[in-house]
Amino acid sequence: MANETIFIGLGSNEGDRLDFCERALRLLQLMPRSRVTGVSSYYETEPVDPYGVLGTGWFINGVVRMETTLSAGEVLALCQEIECSLGRNNSHRIGPRTIDLDLLCYGQHCIATPDLVVPHPRLHLRRFILVPFAEIAPQWRHPVAQRAIHELLACLEDQHQVRRLDVLPGSRYPSHPVTCLS
Ligand code: ADP
Ligand code: MG
Repeated sequence: MANETIFIGLGSNEGDRLDFCERALRLLQLMPRSRVTGVSSYYETEPVDPYGVLGTGWFINGVVRMETTLSAGEVLALCQEIECSLGRNNSHRIGPRTIDLDLLCYGQHCIATPDLVVPHPRLHLRRFILVPFAEIAPQWRHPVAQRAIHELLACLEDQHQVRRLDVLPGSRYPSHPVTCLS
């Protein structure tokens, strides 16, 4: 299978949000036939919650870029395994979540099946996705809108707050742990 550039959105608004994002990032780094090639800063973001179901807590969000030879379905399945292993409770699908992993783009492919819609249908509407996405890939073209991510951000109507956090992503669980010498 061809190599594809993909983008995955991370979000958490329950428990130790930063720790869940850090653990998810570490698990994404272990995804087979894939490598992480970019990680945005973390952002603390006001919930976008038109139905009032997500709770009042702000989210931590970020975006990860990867190269992979997995299919989009395989990526989704592995993201769901990571969500599960980090305690995402699917019986409360629309409530607060320990971790939410969304496949935002799978190369320039457009996919619409009952289980998977790519590019993610709300990607171009959400400041909490476009700000971290633009940080790591401003020139990436949205395959449906046919506009670059930075252009989508420039004309975005969503006014929910998005504040960059001063934390280095990947610092809590680095991929090359320091060996302790006694
Ligand atoms: P949201 O992320 O929209 O708040 P959920 O994470 O609860 O909602 O939605 C999960 C469902 O969305 C899964 O059943 C999954 O099959 C479906 N889904 C469709 N497209 C995508 C995508 N691009 N990324 C992740 N999940 C998706
Ligand atoms: Mg999701």
